[in-house]
Amino acid sequence: MMAGLLFARAGVRTLVLEKHGDFLRDFRGDTVHPSTMEILSELGLLESFLERPHNRLYEARGTIAGKEFRLGDLSHLRTPAPFIAMMPQWDFLDFLRDEAERYPTFALEMKAPIASFVEQGDRVTGVRLADGRELDATLTIAADGRSSLAREMLPLKNLGAPMDVFWFRVPKPPGTEFTLRGIVAPRTLMALIDRGDYWQVAYIFAKGMGAELRAGGIEALRARIEKAAPILGPLDKVLTDIEQMHLLTVELDRLERWHRPGLLAIGDAAHAMSPAGGVGINLAIQDAVAAANILAGPFAAGKDVDPLLRRVQDRRFLPTRLIQGAQKRAQDAVIGPVLDPATRTLRVPLAVRLLDRFALLRRIPGRFIGLGVRREHVRSPDAGLRRAGLPAPSPSPG
Ligand SMILES: Cc1cc2nc3c(=O)[nH]c(=O)nc-3n(C[C@H](O)[C@H](O)[C@H](O)COP(=O)(O)OP(=O)(O)OC[C@H]3O[C@@H](n4cnc5c(N)ncnc54)[C@H](O)[C@@H]3O)c2cc1C
Repeated sequence: MMAGLLFARAGVRTLVLEKHGDFLRDFRGDTVHPSTMEILSELGLLESFLERPHNRLYEARGTIAGKEFRLGDLSHLRTPAPFIAMMPQWDFLDFLRDEAERYPTFALEMKAPIASFVEQGDRVTGVRLADGRELDATLTIAADGRSSLAREMLPLKNLGAPMDVFWFRVPKPPGTEFTLRGIVAPRTLMALIDRGDYWQVAYIFAKGMGAELRAGGIEALRARIEKAAPILGPLDKVLTDIEQMHLLTVELDRLERWHRPGLLAIGDAAHAMSPAGGVGINLAIQDAVAAANILAGPFAAGKDVDPLLRRVQDRRFLPTRLIQGAQKRAQDAVIGPVLDPATRTLRVPLAVRLLDRFALLRRIPGRFIGLGVRREHVRSPDAGLRRAGLPAPSPSPG
């Protein structure tokens, strides 16, 4: 959606195809980082973005073996919005769509699943929809997530992930203070995302154990969850059916080549991100900005952009590799050992104790998470087509 907005803004006729009828996919995560809000600010959209309902997170905290630790501080960042805005990704996508639709060059078709690419020789010349229609495109950007069709034609490197997730909701009493919580206990990792009147809970367990946990029944699982997260309160009337546990499989991988003539993969399509650190949405946005910076101007001027596709990967490969490397290290050093069925006690790592103790140190993870690596700024042209005077965009029902 961000790539669609930027290309349309540059005067390129752009069509975004989305397979679902709305963006209301539970798995998407909720974090909009300072780097993304810096881009919104450069586009003049930050104020209207922050008018949409959200919560602000200035620091990261985690509960390890029952004790709370401060892990990262974003408040010092020199950027227009030095906090993480917690907004469900579907609301963020609705916002981007409303803004993109202000450009006459932008079109969006919902309920339009792509079945395959149309190819001529080794060039991708468009897409074939599930309903049989064929659409020509000078450039197809595959931003279709970790099951991307582009993965069938480009080489993939799997980095491995030691965990999967049960994703479920727990009602939250009104008036409770907003928080985002990470919980670490022997054989248990949880993340609690505050969505106003309910907690979106991620219960993380060793990869492949989902079937076993389900077979153990809801009572056993509920007891484990209540023990690890007393903040959720008694759950006997809330978690009553194992079907409430939606299994999300976690993947960490990347394409070794992101492009072919006529085709460019970005976001999770090019590099599936683990939820560790909550950075995947923002990395996808950075890819979109880089793609527009490199391609939109030449495209609008009618130039052949095939020779430029490589430059998008060249620009974004290093940040992807570094951030996935950090996720992999977190998986290997913390997540895997914590979830190991043999783990009985937890030692709080020295790094965590140091972060909790020294405020200055907490700026380092704050910067890494908030601004990422090699952050992008909007350099793509503005063809001046934005329609003024339209009624203010309103959030859709989703
Ligand atoms: C459990 C979990 C929790 C996470 N939490 C966070 C978090 O809190 N913060 C964060 O930053 N990241 C988080 N992530 C990572 C984040 O969800 C991804 O990195 C991010 O969504 C990638 O964005 P994307 O636009 O590239 O792909 P996606 O968000 O996957 O979007 C792809 C879109 O393409 C559409 N699509 C797919 N196939 C087709 C098709 N054939 N035709 C047409 N449309 C199609 C899909 O419907 C979807 O709308 C989490 C990941 C997991 C697994």
